[in-house]
Amino acid sequence: MEVVKIVPRGYCHGVVEAIRAARAVGAERTGEPIAMLGYLVHNEHVTTELAESGVRLVDAATRLRGLDAIESGTVIFTAHGVSPEVRERARARGLHTVDATCTDVIRTHDLVRDLVGRGYTIVYIGRHGHPEPEGVLGEAPGRIHLVESVADVDQLELAAERLAVTTQTTLSLWDTRAVIARLQERYPHIEVHNEICNATQERQEAAVAAAPGCDVVVVVGSPRSSNSQRLVQVIQEHAGRPAYLVDTAEDLRPEWFRGCRRVGVTSGASTPTVITRAVITALEAMQPEPAGAADAVTSAPAPSAPGIG
Ligand code: SF4
Repeated sequence: MEVVKIVPRGYCHGVVEAIRAARAVGAERTGEPIAMLGYLVHNEHVTTELAESGVRLVDAATRLRGLDAIESGTVIFTAHGVSPEVRERARARGLHTVDATCTDVIRTHDLVRDLVGRGYTIVYIGRHGHPEPEGVLGEAPGRIHLVESVADVDQLELAAERLAVTTQTTLSLWDTRAVIARLQERYPHIEVHNEICNATQERQEAAVAAAPGCDVVVVVGSPRSSNSQRLVQVIQEHAGRPAYLVDTAEDLRPEWFRGCRRVGVTSGASTPTVITRAVITALEAMQPEPAGAADAVTSAPAPSAPGIG
């Protein structure tokens, strides 16, 4: 099958730096307990590799709860960032800390502190339960309102004169624009700070531009990865092509490619290149199957995207 390799794809600068920092800690502090507070990046393969070098994963519903499970040694804060309360509690407990927060996420924390210091009330567009909003919201408890959708905006009742909106870094460009537009309708004076990072923007725009030239698109990434899930979503919604999320080449299902000649491949910002390469190799080895040829052999599921919640 012909494979269209969509660029840019794969590791962003924040992930490269976070993995470098974690590997360095694993090499420098051998013999000491080292824990990463949550998935360093949302990718099982990277997590397994780090575990082999002595970096234990502590995954809990929140970063604060995870911290309670770390008694001594070094704790690594992930690329998603943590709240000031998590930092303070780690310091009070005498833990050695390594901060792998992405510089793009740090910028949002700085922005929120600055706005709150100048008397603003903030609307933050992000996803409930994701670690990045947890960290940012912790900068301004009581002064920042989390919304996910236009419907959430309609539930807001804000009277603040100074009002600003900012965002999680890995959202859908299109959904975020719609939520901001609704906020501007309701609060024309709102100050807009769209913090979707360049890596997310470039990968989504490239995928949506390339997808119409493909019969189907495969996104290589973990179901835990927000930016990988958003790639699947924006291809389906804004390029009108079927798109599937696969963690590895083993997840590819021949029935997705029935009648297809050209398949696009992209990958999330936390997907190792070696895994994407294996998926491309497996797709190139597939023979295009005529539409309907396999109907007698297997029944294909309705097009859907694993991992989209
Ligand atoms: S996706 Fe964006 S915010 Fe997240 S680690 Fe990469 S560059 Fe940083």
